[in-house]
Amino acid sequence: MTIGSFTNAIVRSRTSRHASWALATALVILFTSLQLRADEPYARSRDYDLQHSRIALRFDLDQKKVIGDITHTLTVLRDSTSNIIFDSAGLSIQSVTVNKSSAKFETKDDKLIIPLATAAHTGDKFDINIRYEAKPTKGLYFILPDKDYPDRPKQIWTQGESEDTRYYLPTYDYPNDRLTTETILTVPASWLTVANGKLISVTEAANGMKTWTWKESQPSSTYLITVVAGELDEVKDTWRGMPVTYYAPKGRGDRLSINYSRTPQMLELFSTKLGVNYPWEKYAQSMVDDFVAGGMENSSATTNTSNSLQHPKLAAEYITGQDGLISHELGHQWFGDMVTCKDWGDIWLNEGFATFMEYMWTEAHFGKDEADAERWNSTRQWFADTNLYTKPIVRHDFNDSGEFDGNAYTKGGWVLYMLRHQLGDDAFYRGLKHYLEVNRGKNVVTADLAKAVEESTHTNVDQFFDQWLYGAGAPKFDLAYKYDDAKHEIALTVKQTQKVEGHVGLFRVLADVEITTASGPKLFPMTISNEKDTETFTFHADSAPLLVLFDKGNHVLKSVDFHKEKKEWLYQLKNASEFADRADAITALGKLKGDDEVVAALGTALLNDKTWNIRANAADALGQLGGAGASKQLLDALNSTKEPWVRSHVVAALGNFKDDPAIVAKLNSIAGDDNSYRARASALQALGRLKAPGGLATLNAAVAADSPDGFLRNAALRSMGGLGDDKAVPLLREWAAPGKPIDSRTAAIASLARLQKDNKEITAQIAGYLSEPHFPVRIASVFALGTRGDASAVPALEALLKSNDLSIEMVPMIKTQIETLKAPAGDKHRQHGENAGGEESDASATNDQGAVAKRLDRLEHLMQEMADRLKTIETRLPPPKQ
Ligand SMILES: [Zn+2]
Repeated sequence: MTIGSFTNAIVRSRTSRHASWALATALVILFTSLQLRADEPYARSRDYDLQHSRIALRFDLDQKKVIGDITHTLTVLRDSTSNIIFDSAGLSIQSVTVNKSSAKFETKDDKLIIPLATAAHTGDKFDINIRYEAKPTKGLYFILPDKDYPDRPKQIWTQGESEDTRYYLPTYDYPNDRLTTETILTVPASWLTVANGKLISVTEAANGMKTWTWKESQPSSTYLITVVAGELDEVKDTWRGMPVTYYAPKGRGDRLSINYSRTPQMLELFSTKLGVNYPWEKYAQSMVDDFVAGGMENSSATTNTSNSLQHPKLAAEYITGQDGLISHELGHQWFGDMVTCKDWGDIWLNEGFATFMEYMWTEAHFGKDEADAERWNSTRQWFADTNLYTKPIVRHDFNDSGEFDGNAYTKGGWVLYMLRHQLGDDAFYRGLKHYLEVNRGKNVVTADLAKAVEESTHTNVDQFFDQWLYGAGAPKFDLAYKYDDAKHEIALTVKQTQKVEGHVGLFRVLADVEITTASGPKLFPMTISNEKDTETFTFHADSAPLLVLFDKGNHVLKSVDFHKEKKEWLYQLKNASEFADRADAITALGKLKGDDEVVAALGTALLNDKTWNIRANAADALGQLGGAGASKQLLDALNSTKEPWVRSHVVAALGNFKDDPAIVAKLNSIAGDDNSYRARASALQALGRLKAPGGLATLNAAVAADSPDGFLRNAALRSMGGLGDDKAVPLLREWAAPGKPIDSRTAAIASLARLQKDNKEITAQIAGYLSEPHFPVRIASVFALGTRGDASAVPALEALLKSNDLSIEMVPMIKTQIETLKAPAGDKHRQHGENAGGEESDASATNDQGAVAKRLDRLEHLMQEMADRLKTIETRLPPPKQ
């Protein structure tokens, strides 16, 4: 796997905008290491049907221990069943009863085995009570104050998916069984709790405690069981009379409404569009600190990262806010929770649908252009991750590559979009309604979707499913046309250039070709065959075409190399009606360096296009092109570009123009004072990228000043590494230290990675952070030590490898850094090159420092270009050390 290919995807779509670039870089490595996960690819055969679990939990905060008392009600599914077996990882089982009689039990290989007194028959019912204790290393997490962060609100939360419920609860831990739950939580009286289903009661308990009882009456899978408890603020809302609640760590309750209050509108849209009402008794969203994912769609009770609680002043600067995350997790309440994939090989039935539901919300609420831009960007991300291309979406051989990947999410969402486009809205939504209704409360495989679509629309989708879901890849087109003036005919040659091998074949594609001549545009629907790789289509045209569009509006997942003249691209940028076609023109024009006409056209698009995404893309392209004309266009645009989501792109683009005092002066001025915090942060970053003379004074001032959530301080700290001025070191060491905000620390640590590399004191300081409980600090430190190249860090990293609280995901990441540090000096750049991927991945640079610096600059730039919304970080990260 090329790690770098993940960079775009993660930086653009999966990373919280709060994350530092170091964290993003670390995520790159983590995504790779997730390959090592070994979930069961096929659903298990079952001996029993678990129907109900009564889950009573108490917590020992000092020891970070969970004390459980569980009663499972189950029915045997097989004659001669002699044992009941539960998943149970690291739990200390104290007693078991079967139908209230004390029973023997044994624990072995993460299983709790309970021999039955006599072999059971199909249909026999048992109540099995288990008392146990555990100090979970996964599944359930204690977030508590410590000496460095004494004011931290106390929080306990769980994360079951994919197979971690067994670390705090002995249960049947695979999706293909469903049960109702009663969750009984005894916690300090001042705490709030959240669990699946309805709140039944809160009663006084001994020792200043309270007992909360929650009951979920609709069955769902065990990975969707949730517990959140702690010092929380709550905001109550409703939708059609149903409770809708939002929770934040205590003290941040005032951020709930600004970020989450569109939830009822989403509930309304999804219920209406799908024709199936929201299926649970309430909807709670709990935002917790240090969450190991972006969000998790537990039935009726989603848990999200507290990073989604954006400061109101910053929230106003992001056009779609947190809606990507919120709509994704809400979409799962239908697709994932009410109807659940039977096995992890069909995970796209959860994740592809949730991604499509994000799109559905964006389109309805923010408009078609915004939704089109999301889809256009996602295509580029998906193709950039070349590792995805040869793998089908539905597959069961993911033990070596992780199932929560860009195929399940991005391509899965695209497949549903294409199905909608092909069937039309009415038929598509009729199909989804039927799929949801016949499979309500069931576990499904991909064939169930095809069947439901066919039953409700009478359209056979087998070939479509074969090529997009069971087959791999997507078409790569090479296109060119000729106009025959005598015949008044356009001949368009369509070549599929993907390598046909393995699961990748030729594609059958429906696409509209639009031909514009002096007399106007004309649309030609056409079908590309999957039987030959090259076809030529002819169209009548009354005169020479001004513009030929292939798949107008971008309704097919594909890459296209369309050989056009510059003047046609210019015409396309100016006149194409759809976002994607104008965006494609910018991409093509952005490669034509040193052309005044191109620069002028991009400048016009930057100022005048009706779609902000086009304006932002034009700014990026001008930055890439460089030259005096381009910088003038960008500087001029600053006068009129007020929207923070465009202005930040314009400022970031200025970070490409080296040795221009006027630009440095402008960036200094914006960094110090501008209406947009995002623009100011972009200016601080750009000063670092440019290694601007005197830039340190501006960065120092930004570190000293206050801004919402330290937004500017963090940007400045992050920029200091790129600036390369060693005078920043004392300040960075101060802000890297325990007690400072975590975001500031990770920014400072990332910059320290690049300064005074032979200063062993800095290396020792960073190595000291490896044993901290704060996951982002830990991971920034591991990565920084690798980047510093100081072998004195090896023993600390090796000691970390031996610590028993390490999640398996962190291990390969640490090993990689150790290998880097142990490698002979000349080889060091190679490892970095591999991490970076993209144009740096060939590691042709002979200069280690140069290669690393180039890569870091690129990463910083990518972070600046980061998506203007928080997307789901659903791939699990290692748990924080406790
Ligand atoms: Zn999801």
